[in-house]
Amino acid sequence: MLSVRPGTRVVRWIGDDAAVVRADGVAVVSTDVMVDGTHFRLGQAMPEDAGWRALAGALSDLAAMGAEAGEAYLSVVLAPGVDALALHRGAEALAAECGVTIAGGDLTRGPALTLAVTVVGWAAAADAVVGRDGACPGDLVGVSGPLGGSAAGLAVLEGRADGPPSLALSYLRPRPRLAAGRALAAAGAHAMLDLSDGLASDARRLAEAGGVTLRLDAAALPLADGVPAVAGALGTDPTELAATGGEDYELCACVPQAARAAAEAAGLRWIGEVAAGPADVVWRNAPPGSAAWRGYEY
Ligand SMILES: [Mg+2]
Repeated sequence: MLSVRPGTRVVRWIGDDAAVVRADGVAVVSTDVMVDGTHFRLGQAMPEDAGWRALAGALSDLAAMGAEAGEAYLSVVLAPGVDALALHRGAEALAAECGVTIAGGDLTRGPALTLAVTVVGWAAAADAVVGRDGACPGDLVGVSGPLGGSAAGLAVLEGRADGPPSLALSYLRPRPRLAAGRALAAAGAHAMLDLSDGLASDARRLAEAGGVTLRLDAAALPLADGVPAVAGALGTDPTELAATGGEDYELCACVPQAARAAAEAAGLRWIGEVAAGPADVVWRNAPPGSAAWRGYEY
């Protein structure tokens, strides 16, 4: 299992009683739990996918801070019949892509497959990371990539709609936007988070943390390939699927006008702007019912 090499920061890792990691600057730490039957369903997802998705969800939080991803600690409650090596293969595949060392973890047995992932990222100093609370009136609001692909992919996997295999992969193998997050932090983004529950809910978190109104244009939302067709099959407006579908793991950032070009170079696509409070999200060009849009909340 230990075919990969640890990162240069890691002094001791899997196989010892504890990992030992050289500290430099500030550590940025996040943890995420995924449970079979709640966050994914074995059968639709292979164990490799479950390992990948669990790590992706955790690393996405580091991307949202603009941190450099460092180490991951993967703890697994293994249900009967689930292949632990396959789980690790999936997580290792993403870790290798992201330059992350899986430096430790735990394995035990239980009734439902559960993956608990702790990730540690690094930044030079506390003011080099981006929180949720810095949005200012006049900022531009952007997202790092197309939306709705994961929700549409899940609909395809569940047989509720037809769609290309790439859609199912959006759900099964999301990619945390680590490079975009670092670039946006360097560009001076004021506030940022990752879209785990869906833009409608997550934008509200930015609005509440900053005490500002986010004015968003539904017609500007970039849609993942295949989303309009799946939305049609589901009888849903495509922009609603994009705004309320969870687990796209794109970033949503509030960026000062002066950083417009740098943010665009980092891949950001503009979907609105920040206005003075109250803490709220207001949609334009949205189908009826947008005031009640909610993302997925576990
Ligand atoms: Mg997050």
